[in-house]
Amino acid sequence: MAVEVNRDLCEANGLCVAAAPEVFELENDEELIIREAPADAELAARIKVAVASCPRLALRVTD
Ligand code: SF4
Repeated sequence: MAVEVNRDLCEANGLCVAAAPEVFELENDEELIIREAPADAELAARIKVAVASCPRLALRVTD
């Protein structure tokens, strides 16, 4: 599963980080870093929660 962030929309509030910290990280509390996610059903479910929880609709699953 791959995820993209629209940096024009992201406000770095960290909600996605809380849902899946293995994949999402805020660098210097302002820039979102997205790591490649290993194939894992439990993690994939949390990534979907992270995408759905973004109040700015800044995240998109790309595959
Ligand atoms: S939840 Fe959305 S707005 Fe918040 S850090 Fe993640 S991508 Fe950015």
